[in-house]
Amino acid sequence: MMSQANLNNITTLPVVKYGDPILRKKVEDVQEFSEISFKVQQMFDTMYEEGGIGLAANQVGWNLNLLVLDTSGLEGEEDTEPLVMINSKVIDKEGSSVMEEGCLSVPEIRAEIERPETITIQFQDEFNNRHTQTFSGLVSRVIQHELDHLKGKFFVDYLSPSKRMLINKRLLEISKSGKPSTGIIL
Ligand SMILES: [Zn+2]
Repeated sequence: MMSQANLNNITTLPVVKYGDPILRKKVEDVQEFSEISFKVQQMFDTMYEEGGIGLAANQVGWNLNLLVLDTSGLEGEEDTEPLVMINSKVIDKEGSSVMEEGCLSVPEIRAEIERPETITIQFQDEFNNRHTQTFSGLVSRVIQHELDHLKGKFFVDYLSPSKRMLINKRLLEISKSGKPSTGIIL
C-alpha cells in the first residue's frame, strides 16, 4: 500500500496499532515548528489513505502533541474544514452526548461512548499561531478522541467491564496481527 501511494507523491505512514507501547504514553509538546508542515502533510495523507477522519501523532509513531482531522467528507459536515492542532489544552467542557466511535489503531471495533458535547481548546497551528476555539458536534467528538490518544488513552478504555470482556480477545488479536478475527459494534 505504501509503495503504491509513494508513486503518486503521497507520503503515507503505517498506522500504529493497539498494543504498541507508544500509544500508552503521554506525548511531549512540539517545540520545533520548522519541519512540522511536512509532518502535518504526512499525517493528512495517512489519514485519508486509511479512510479516517482524525489522527494523532503517536498513531504514526511520533511523540508529539499534534493532531489532524477532517470531517468534511461526511454527510452534514460539508461545511467543516481540515484542522491542525498542536500543543492543545482543553480549557472548558460542557454538556454530554453519546456517539459511536471507531479508531484506525483499533480496527473493526466500534462502540458508543459518552463525552462532553462542547469543548473549548487552546492550541497552536502549524505556523505557530495561537488559537482559542469552541467546538461541538462531530468535530468536538473527533478532537476529544484524538486528545485522548495524545494522553495515552483509547476510546475502549471507557467501556464497562462487561463490554470490555467482549473485546479483550479482539484487542489481543490486534496487538499480535494488526486486526481482529471478527469485528464488533458495542
Ligand atoms: Zn483513534
